[in-house]
Amino acid sequence: MGISRILIANRGEIALRIHRAAHEMGIETVAVHSTADADAMHVRLADHAICIGPPSATDSYLNQAAIISAAEISGADAIHPGYGFLSENAQFAEIVETHDIKWIGPKPEHIRTMGDKVEAKRTAGALGLPLVPGSDGAISSIEEAAEVAEQIGYPVLVKAASGGGGRGMKVIPTAADLASAVAQAKSEAKAAFGDDTVYLEKYLGNPRHIEFQVFGDGNGNAVHLGERDCSLQRRHQKVLEEAPSPVLSQEERQRMGSIVAKAMAEMGYRGAGTIEFLWENGEFYFIEMNTRLQVEHPVTEAITGVDLVREQIRIADGKPLSVQQDEIEFKGHAIECRINAEDPFNFIPSPGLVTTYHAAGGMHVRVDSGLYAGYRIPPYYDSMIAKLIVYGRTREGCIMRLRRALEEMVIEGVKTSIPLHEALLNEPDILDGNYSIKWLEEWLGERE
Ligand code: ADP
Repeated sequence: MGISRILIANRGEIALRIHRAAHEMGIETVAVHSTADADAMHVRLADHAICIGPPSATDSYLNQAAIISAAEISGADAIHPGYGFLSENAQFAEIVETHDIKWIGPKPEHIRTMGDKVEAKRTAGALGLPLVPGSDGAISSIEEAAEVAEQIGYPVLVKAASGGGGRGMKVIPTAADLASAVAQAKSEAKAAFGDDTVYLEKYLGNPRHIEFQVFGDGNGNAVHLGERDCSLQRRHQKVLEEAPSPVLSQEERQRMGSIVAKAMAEMGYRGAGTIEFLWENGEFYFIEMNTRLQVEHPVTEAITGVDLVREQIRIADGKPLSVQQDEIEFKGHAIECRINAEDPFNFIPSPGLVTTYHAAGGMHVRVDSGLYAGYRIPPYYDSMIAKLIVYGRTREGCIMRLRRALEEMVIEGVKTSIPLHEALLNEPDILDGNYSIKWLEEWLGERE
């Protein structure tokens, strides 16, 4: 018996995204929500809805016992965790499987390995992926750190093994700063992640962030779906993503793509994953792997025509990959703008009542959002309220359409990042695809 009812253990646009894929496959959905999300669009659209707790994520979207109970009560035979929350919690994945519920995600052991950045780097290196030069695993003493830093050359970066979401890293400019920075990083990591393991990495001066989408069937078959360029970041948070990367040639794509696909096949990786690299002067350096669906997955869907959530559900159901590598073609160009409820230039959150809402439309325009007029954006969660994804046959055409689509979006009652995206699309560097991970912060600094 295949999957017939999926519990969606998430909220916001991604919960809606999962609901849509499920319904297109004739699968029922169960929404679980906090009291703050009772009026959310995906809760309204789901076949069943269960309130699992108060607003605080710890008591609701991270409440494993409540989610498992909801699955049992509603008769769900699979759980999709979306991104964030419990999506990269290996223990939760194990608990789900112990309850004979299908986990729409990677094997728990792979989530665990890749969730520890030291282990992830070791594994990636063993699989033949190029690494950022750095310590061989965790740093056990200041003397060892000093030796490694000397060898790779300053500036270096100290990173927490359990870090994530851009947190838990620190740049160390010179040898004089090393001891205090490492000590501080360790105590911060202990406080934030309950694990004071840290490691050192060469700090790359001006790289791009280029990541590859991979997919495995768990039985030794894997494909890659090309790359996404996510170099436009603020505080290590992605703001706008595009596929393909403006700097990668078809040969480089094929070369790196087959390396990552081969690595995933060797691992026996199951489901969707993203392998993140920094890219500088034509060289790739592995930084981490995310064992889940990414926020920016729609740009890959736009240029390949593959529905990644549908593929995730199929694989969890024990079906083979629906496409072979030689059937995957990269066509045209896609850009995603993350639209947050916040001031576009000082980034202060702006939750509250959405008084008017009109989504952009037209050819090759996709809006993933749970917004509607009269919806109140709760203050408790991530500020991303919509994703605008636009496709064009060329990058230039895509940008022209994206400008038009941004102009058409109407969200009133709260501040949004739409004006930021509009300003970015007037910048010659962005139009030329000429930007690194440093670009946005420098540009914002100059505006002040
Ligand atoms: P997280 O899991 O917190 O997202 P990552 O390892 O993916 O951490 O790094 C997040 C971002 O930090 C990268 O996209 C990049 O902007 C920056 N970064 C990470 N490692 C380095 C490095 N060695 N040199 C320069 N910047 C880096």
